Amino acid sequence: VKYDEGNIFAKIIRGEVKSTKIYEDEYLLAFEDINKSAPVHVIIIPKGQFVSFCDFTSHASETQISYFFKTISKIAKKLDIVDSGFRLVTNNGADASQSVPHFHFHMLGKKKMEEKLL
Ligand code: AMP
Repeated sequence: VKYDEGNIFAKIIRGEVKSTKIYEDEYLLAFEDINKSAPVHVIIIPKGQFVSFCDFTSHASETQISYFFKTISKIAKKLDIVDSGFRLVTNNGADASQSVPHFHFHMLGKKKMEEKLL
């Protein structure tokens, strides 16, 4: 799948669309979801052009992948949701209703989530 440089998260990375940033470095960006499903609802994205989780894990380097996951943990610490708990979700493709074609994780916390899909 070809990466669409016009997607909303690409615009956020380029600074063309505003976001409430939680964390940013050279490789990755975390910002608040505009339509929150929990008091903490943060979108975490690599700055590289990856359409989905599978695109990221297939085409990013080992270093990029491990840096991405380790930094997610740092963000959880920064948000103080390590002890209380949080949920990490990625929607990959049509059946999961992925709506933005730039790989992202949703980080949800500060809410007792009763419903479980599995
Ligand atoms: P998904 O359905 O997994 O692709 O999730 C896309 C998420 O991006 C949704 O939860 C939207 O609320 C969120 N979203 C869309 N546009 C923006 C935006 N401009 N700023 C922050 N979050 C956004």
